[in-house]
Amino acid sequence: MSAFTTKQDEAIKETFRYIALAHELWPLIEDDLEYPLVTFDLKGRTAGTANYRDNIIQYNNDMLENEEGFIQGTVGHEVAHLIHKALIARGMAKEYKKPHGNEWKRIMRLIGCSPERLHKYHGYQTKTVTRRKYRYYCPQCSKTFDVGIKRHIKQQYYLSIATNQGYFCPKCKKQIQYKGQIQ
Ligand SMILES: [Zn+2]
Ligand SMILES: [Zn+2]
Repeated sequence: MSAFTTKQDEAIKETFRYIALAHELWPLIEDDLEYPLVTFDLKGRTAGTANYRDNIIQYNNDMLENEEGFIQGTVGHEVAHLIHKALIARGMAKEYKKPHGNEWKRIMRLIGCSPERLHKYHGYQTKTVTRRKYRYYCPQCSKTFDVGIKRHIKQQYYLSIATNQGYFCPKCKKQIQYKGQIQ
């Protein structure tokens, strides 16, 4: 089983698709723009952040899992920040005063994103977020356990690396297994 949810998998693929596109559009920055580490540990009201120095893009998992249009609104936006920094590193773009200035907007259009429409995703306004639950079961007694997104991601990770860690059935001491998402 993949360590990632369907949405997380989609976000990673989309991130890498934009990086590959940037390599095509600006072959000179290929060495300055490596495929970033993508994480889903961002909390609060921010949809995503891009850290060029450490080459990490962080997404807000609650929003990713629950918000319609999150991937279209956030992934290109964050990759555009990395592209911009890489262009600056090569002397191909100016250092900016505003992170969402004209150069960033130009990059957004070149990679096929609309800078205007996506803008709201940065200073994100919280909407009512449906908090999904994920159902697990004990492989021994079949008791079910419904967990939130944070526990779910942790348990998916432990299951994916086949380690006997994470969450257990309190009665049987068996590592609980994933059953499916519930509303
Ligand atoms: Zn931004
Ligand atoms: Zn049990």
